[in-house]
Amino acid sequence: MNIILFGPPGAGKGTQAQFIVKKYNYFQLSTGDLLRNESKQKTPLGNKIEELISNGKFVSDEIVNTLLKNSITKLKFKDRIIFDGYPRNIQQAKKLEEILAEFDQKISHIVYLNVTRNIIEKRIMGRVTCEKCSVTFNEFFNKKEIELHPCGKGHLVKRKDDNYETIISRYDTYTNNTKPILDFYSKNVNFIEIDGNLKIDEITSKISDILEV
Ligand SMILES: [Zn+2]
Repeated sequence: MNIILFGPPGAGKGTQAQFIVKKYNYFQLSTGDLLRNESKQKTPLGNKIEELISNGKFVSDEIVNTLLKNSITKLKFKDRIIFDGYPRNIQQAKKLEEILAEFDQKISHIVYLNVTRNIIEKRIMGRVTCEKCSVTFNEFFNKKEIELHPCGKGHLVKRKDDNYETIISRYDTYTNNTKPILDFYSKNVNFIEIDGNLKIDEITSKISDILEV
């Protein structure tokens, strides 16, 4: 089975992808990694990529598709690919289906890890650290743990997170950009939405249920 895993930054995609790779012996394909690996190998295509990136230019869909094709055709990858952060638009999605079909493969599941903006905000805004022992809690999600903390509540301090604006703006950009592809995929019978607000192991177990059918 080939899987597409997508969701906004902060949904825990990376953690879940790592789990699938380890437990089910999958290969994680992200375009960032494909581009970096090709550049590292100093192939003619790799050198071209290097040049584009260092000049601040975009790497064309054509180049990305060539790299995808090179990976998809590797026998060890067959039906064991987890696509991470790709496709990002409908053209790419259609092209990916084409490439896969050419090699007698398909996307079996599209897993969307959804996490709301409100939860992302609470994760950042609720962070408190104990001055005495440096343990970190979230005042929205760890109410019980905070009550029971041996140092007492008086030592818990909130620090202003300088990354707040960056994280929220990355989230908004992502959701705006991926809206069309989300609409496109959500009509697909293989589309599964998982609540990214759940605990990591709860998400993991939902993914296992999908993969072990
Ligand atoms: Zn403490």
